[in-house]
This record gives sequence, C-alpha cells and structure tokens, in this order.
Amino acid sequence: MRVSPIAFCTLTASLTLVSLTPVPSVAQEKTAPTGYTDTPYLPGGKWRVHDDARPRPLVVTPGKTASEAPSDAIVLFDGGNLDEWVMEKDNSPADWLVKDGFVEVPPKGHGVGGYMRTKREFGDVQLHVEFATPAKIEGNSQGRGNSGVFFLGSFELQILDSFENKTYADGQASALYGYKPPLVNVARQPGEWQSYDIVFEAPRWDAEGNLLKKAYITVFHNGVLTHHRQPYLGATGHKRVADYHTVRETGPIKLQDHGNPTRFRNIWVRELDLDAHE
Ligand code: MG
Repeated sequence: MRVSPIAFCTLTASLTLVSLTPVPSVAQEKTAPTGYTDTPYLPGGKWRVHDDARPRPLVVTPGKTASEAPSDAIVLFDGGNLDEWVMEKDNSPADWLVKDGFVEVPPKGHGVGGYMRTKREFGDVQLHVEFATPAKIEGNSQGRGNSGVFFLGSFELQILDSFENKTYADGQASALYGYKPPLVNVARQPGEWQSYDIVFEAPRWDAEGNLLKKAYITVFHNGVLTHHRQPYLGATGHKRVADYHTVRETGPIKLQDHGNPTRFRNIWVRELDLDAHE
C-alpha cells in the first residue's frame, strides 16, 4: 500500500502527539513513606520499627575495588611513603624499603629494620592489609615468610608462608599467634599477593582496671573467614600463655620484622565506634 506524503505527515504528527502525552506514573500518584511514627517500639523503647526519626547512617563512598580505601578510611600505606609509620625501637622515621608500590621488610645486618608501628593510636578498627611472603623459599616452619600485624601493639595476627609449610597450628598464617589457629588454611603460594580484612575490637576496662571485655577479632584471609569474633587470650607472647597485664584500650598498629623480606601494600584502616552504634 502506498501512503501519500500528506497522510504520512498526519500520521507522524499523531504519533508525536501520542508520545508527548504524559503517562501518569505510579510514583506520581503515591509517594512511598520514608519512615513511620505509629509503629511499635523496638526493645529498649528508643526507636520504633521503621522509625522515621532514626538517624540514617553516614554515607561512605566505597573503593572501586576491595583493595582501595573507602572515603572514611585512614590510608596507612598506598605505595608512596611511610609518613604514617615510625620504628618501634626509637620512634625514628620508618626505614623499611619502599619500591614499586609496596614496602618490604629490609634485610638483616644493614643497621635498618625492626618492628614498624603507626604514629596514630587506635581502638576498635577495620583494617585492610595486603602482603606477600617471599617468592624465593628460604627456611621452614616459623622461619619462612614470618611477619605479623599487631593491634594495640600487643595482639598479633600471624603472617607466615603457610603454603605447604608445616609449623605448629597456632603459629601458621592467620593464627592468633600462640593461641588460636585459623578455621582454615587459605594461604596462597609464596610471592603471591594475599589480603587480610579484619575487624578488631579493643578490650574494655572499668575505672578500677578490671577487664570488662576481652579483645575480639574477625578475619577474612583472601576473602575467606578464618576467625569469627574470636576473643584473644591476651597480649601475644612466645612459648607462654598470653594475658592482659600490659594491655590498654588503644595503641598503635604494628608490623613485624621477623627477618624475612615480606612485602605489604594497600594498608588502610577505619576507626570504629562500636559502643556508639544505636
Ligand atoms: Mg609473626
């Protein structure tokens, strides 16, 4: 069938009119409530179910990847410098080796090295840290790729090359050293980058110095749960039972120099105020 030019124009104009005519949407007819004021109170009586007056959580922009710090994190090391760190032994500038976007425990015998600690002190935190044990396998058991992350300067989460490397269970990678083995051994091969995503809850004390609550830790090693809110027995020690005698509520985060050239990158921390969460 042939359509005349005039008829075609008329048809086009009709279609245009139809397409410009607003179609009432459900959203315009009815606005969804942002909360309620007539619902029952939750236990404790402060907020109602779906309470419209309850403060909304702070908006945080996530990193583009799991490695990248979210907007409310303190970046402790992004590959550039060690400005957030000092040497534990004398508070001198951190002297571990920064190169190619990572920092490495320096070799022994050159007048450098030792534990590195943050200048800042922390209590409850979420910490992300990536590490790689040496690609070249040297030593065995605790002598192979040993390092560690310490919270409050006292509670170690062990770093070790635990890929086909037998050692005692409470000393392998992701162990609470000297106390609690990880739920599973999810270590990658030597030289490969690995991650810890950690929630650390600092202990609480009363005014008389009595321990009210132990330190707790939750750990994902390479994305796999290895500790679920596990209490620490106490400050980490070697060949002794840990206790809380030297522990405070805040302290630095430390990285261990155990004489093995372990590497770190993408270290960031979020301060948590778990007591304030309503
Ligand atoms: Mg260690």
